Amino acid sequence: MNVLLIGSGGREHALAWKLAQSPALTKLYAAPGNPGIAHYAECVDIQANDHRGLIDFCLRNSVEFVVVGPEAPLVGGLSDNLRTMGIAVFGPGRDAAQLEGSKGFTKDLCRREKIPTAGYVRVESIDGARAALSDFGLPVVIKADGLAAGKGVTIAFSPEEAEEAVAALFSNRRGEAVIEEFLTGEEASLFVLTDGTTILPFGSAQDHKRVGDGDTGPNTGGMGAYSPAPVLSPALEQQAIDEIIRPTVEALARIGSPYSGVLYCGLMLTKTGPKLIEYNVRFGDPECQVLMMRLEDDLLDLMLATAKGELGGRAAPTFSSETALTVVMAARGYPGTPETGGAIAGIDAAEANGARVFQAGTAEADGKLIANGGRVLNVTALGGSVAEAQRHAYAAIERVDFPTGFCRSDIGWREIEREQA
Ligand code: ATP
Repeated sequence: MNVLLIGSGGREHALAWKLAQSPALTKLYAAPGNPGIAHYAECVDIQANDHRGLIDFCLRNSVEFVVVGPEAPLVGGLSDNLRTMGIAVFGPGRDAAQLEGSKGFTKDLCRREKIPTAGYVRVESIDGARAALSDFGLPVVIKADGLAAGKGVTIAFSPEEAEEAVAALFSNRRGEAVIEEFLTGEEASLFVLTDGTTILPFGSAQDHKRVGDGDTGPNTGGMGAYSPAPVLSPALEQQAIDEIIRPTVEALARIGSPYSGVLYCGLMLTKTGPKLIEYNVRFGDPECQVLMMRLEDDLLDLMLATAKGELGGRAAPTFSSETALTVVMAARGYPGTPETGGAIAGIDAAEANGARVFQAGTAEADGKLIANGGRVLNVTALGGSVAEAQRHAYAAIERVDFPTGFCRSDIGWREIEREQA
């Protein structure tokens, strides 16, 4: 079978690596891909928002199955457009993708279905926002409604910060926002595959959003992750599926927008049980890299069964019991303006002992690998514990020669503290 993978990040490099292991794969294409993905796929220069171009490419190249990596094409309706042309897709249609595309949509669904989440008010104007703020204590959470690439959320600790956040949100655009109760606890991510009816658990992870050691500094797309997340015990995982994920999947099916794909559930583990912080309608990046490192089953087979509504009767996918840990190497300047063009070498040496280096913002110039984005490499390793996986990942990083790059030195610290307690 010919397969087209949409995307160009470390997440898609990990997906390409795993898809390439499937005996059912004839040829893998990637649009637009990156130099790491090019080891497993023929990269074609079509952007994810060029739906017509992607459909034409599939028809001309007998592509029967499309795997969509990032959220924007899903929210933009790419899956619907491909399905209309008879092409199977891994990833939800536009309506179900609102779970990520509109925070207000998800919060209203939670309210209707009594799904545990932070109390909230939807607002459409600065006056509405100011009035709503008086209903909440401090800190308070202020979120733009739509996709904001991780930059749409403010946690305000004072009335002044709250005012500044709503003023910024409504200054140059009419829009919608959600004002939300602040939840305390530890965050964890839970993944499931669902075809709209059957739900199969697909692993857990914890990421590290802040740029600096000790979870300091500005937010990023993610500086590292590990899987599984032991803090999400089997009992808590089942509770999250029963109280949060299943009611969501059932509600979407009832309103005629059945969900198909991977559902990423961002949880706050509060004293009164898991509460939903957010849904993402695709794999996380870098969480995908650690999940793929542990997955023992055929990814293409699982994705096809998901897309075709054939998950019923299947056992939950199997993952290695080892821990996978990934450290993001970013270009200096990230998450501000990253320094591009820096030389990268040593990837083969870094992979010599079993680690894998997934590429994100890289490019090739004169046959050499260079940095071409904020997050550049994801150095990923397995180990018998989080501490061991961390040792293996940083040993591999020692062998990467990327002078204009940097990384956090403490990925996994929270769990390692618990392991050593
Ligand atoms: P964007 O919409 O900007 O792309 P996002 O989808 O990543 O961002 P969320 O996941 O909803 O936004 O929030 C980002 C982070 O803010 C969360 O990972 C969490 O740390 C924190 N956060 C969000 N909501 C709450 C809440 N109600 N209580 C406490 N912390 C929260």
